[in-house]
Amino acid sequence: MLPFIRSDLAQLTAYTPHTEENHAGTAEPIQVAHLDTNESPFDLPDELKQKLSWTFQQTIESNRYPDGGHFALKQAIADYVNETATLPAASFNSTHISVGNGSDELIRSVLIATCLGGEGAILVAEPTFSMYAILARTLGIPVVAVGRSPEDFGIDLTAAQAAIQNTQHSTIRVVFVVHPNSPTGNALTSLEIDWLQSLPEHILVVIDEAYFEFSQTTLAEMLLQHPSWIILRTFSKAFRLAAHRVGYAIAHPELIQTLEKVRLPYNLPTFTQAAAQTALAHRQQLLATIPDTLVQRDQLTQTLIQHPALQIWQSAANFIYVRLKPEISATPDLILNLVYQQLKAQGVLIRHTGGGLRITIGTRDENSRLLNALQVALDSHLHPKII
Ligand SMILES: *Cc1c(COP(=O)(O)O)cnc(C)c1O
Repeated sequence: MLPFIRSDLAQLTAYTPHTEENHAGTAEPIQVAHLDTNESPFDLPDELKQKLSWTFQQTIESNRYPDGGHFALKQAIADYVNETATLPAASFNSTHISVGNGSDELIRSVLIATCLGGEGAILVAEPTFSMYAILARTLGIPVVAVGRSPEDFGIDLTAAQAAIQNTQHSTIRVVFVVHPNSPTGNALTSLEIDWLQSLPEHILVVIDEAYFEFSQTTLAEMLLQHPSWIILRTFSKAFRLAAHRVGYAIAHPELIQTLEKVRLPYNLPTFTQAAAQTALAHRQQLLATIPDTLVQRDQLTQTLIQHPALQIWQSAANFIYVRLKPEISATPDLILNLVYQQLKAQGVLIRHTGGGLRITIGTRDENSRLLNALQVALDSHLHPKII
């Protein structure tokens, strides 16, 4: 360990993006199905790529810094938020929006603005998006984790409430929830939303709506009454822009201004801002693939429900989550890891996380490849045990 590095960083390892690991582990010429990171399986249409190339050639000056205020993009996002929450046009405006280099950057800004320097801890309900805890730990921020019901993945609200009232550990300043949750696909229930509403105003509630375009459920309207709430969204999923790194936050102007204080001045490259604006301007075309993804998701769910070894849940997002039924094995993660490895060897990438498998809905071809590979892999690792 280098003598000048913070001692608490010694126990942490760098986050390895799955794509990198996967390229290294997959024997080449097979076609890889990327069903592991919940992106859209569809690249931008050619004509939009051409439009963007034209913008790059004709209007972007590469020698100039980007627009550090993101004004046009924020305004376009605010309009989109109003439109999709069916709110009056002036409900949200650019002062309610902050944009980040992916919503990962916004998560970090939230942590810096709230808990840094021993000022507080965060609360998460696992299994959930891993980035909250990963980013908190790199900033020396304590993470308090509670569980979820094994039946429906509802948050253990008794444990969550107890953690908030517990004065033994550092005060919880921020509660992170995902709506719908990753990896489990369940949206917040009205019971959970009631609990969030009951939290005192000195606790910030972060509602991550990364999958909003698939779930069509949002707490945006409620946020208008809650200055201590913030919604995060991303262009990395339904909007097909993962390569460009754009996320945004919706919150009251005072909170937005605080996030703006702690971010880097030129966090969003000019080309990225252009990509996000182009995507928003052509949203109907880009989002038109979503209904088919949802049909595919439901078909895959219906097929896998028939499997005698699997437990599967209805998902409100563009991925599904499966576990082995409890009676199938006392060591499910050993079997699921073998299944995961076997699929990977065949070029079908999924996630093994939180005691289950998370599978992104891909193209029709990818989904049927996944289904075949999964059924074969389960058969080969379970067959002797089922009979
Ligand atoms: C994919 C995802 C994000 C997106 O992160 P970006 O940094 O915007 O790519 C955020 N939150 C959750 C829960 C996600 O699944």
